[in-house]
Amino acid sequence: MAIAPAPVPLKPADYKSSVKPIWCPGCGDFGVLNSFYKMISDLQLAPEKVAIASGIGCSGRFPAFVNAYGFHGVHGRALPLATGIKLGNPELTVYAVSGDGDAFSIGMGHVPHAARRNIDITYIVMDNEIYGLTKGQPSPTSVLGMEKKASPYGSIDAPVDPLRVVLAAGATFVARAFSGRPKEMTEILKAATLHRGFACVQVFSPCVTFNNTYDALKATAVDLPADHDVTDRLAAVRRTSDPEATYLGVFYHDTSKPSYDMLVAGVQAKSRASGRFDLGRLFERYNAAG
Ligand code: SF4
Ligand code: MG
Repeated sequence: MAIAPAPVPLKPADYKSSVKPIWCPGCGDFGVLNSFYKMISDLQLAPEKVAIASGIGCSGRFPAFVNAYGFHGVHGRALPLATGIKLGNPELTVYAVSGDGDAFSIGMGHVPHAARRNIDITYIVMDNEIYGLTKGQPSPTSVLGMEKKASPYGSIDAPVDPLRVVLAAGATFVARAFSGRPKEMTEILKAATLHRGFACVQVFSPCVTFNNTYDALKATAVDLPADHDVTDRLAAVRRTSDPEATYLGVFYHDTSKPSYDMLVAGVQAKSRASGRFDLGRLFERYNAAG
């Protein structure tokens, strides 16, 4: 990931915008936001070199609360937005933020493509296993049998496993964190940010109003075993849905693949050298016009 340090030391509070979060008190999303402030301060990223794109849902408000560039887009489109931002200005450190519905229902078409391209962004999925903003319908990650007002006889749809989806599509950094474990989340977000390529972090971020899973997660979530091999994709796949435990940590990390912005730069250089069609100059003209 491209990192541009801030010219003067910045504390976590310096990355707070003037917009106060309006999430329900106790929402897991506060934990994600606070870990994000801490991570970005630890890395001393210059606010003007950071961009955050989001979709729709309670998670969609995230960019408004950070002192950086932000784009609250339409439902399910955080990844295409973040991809465009990164390719338009590869020097930026780019994040996409979604909820489980935004990412794995309406946005599902974009997830495998961002992963296979290895676009250099960090995708934070704040997963509360429910549609919170619309008051509690089953989402793609809701557990089977979840009984809510909108599913009084229990959810009958088998849930998506987010990490398996991105692992199968070729993601090069795959991790899972929990709002109830903020220190560990900060370290995971840091590693994801420093990874050059597509980094996906699923964060269990309980919706305390419609699906409060805090106590269950505190009782079951454990760190990945110390001997887990982060370079073994199949081992990572097996750990995502281990019946014995709900694991947290970095499941997979592959530094061998070029990121998409590197590949695009290569194509631009070739097109420039060919003298036939100068893709690089076309980009420059486009940027100048903007
Ligand atoms: Fe958080 Fe749920 Fe409230 Fe949305 S509805 S802000 S996810 S607690
Ligand atoms: Mg949700």
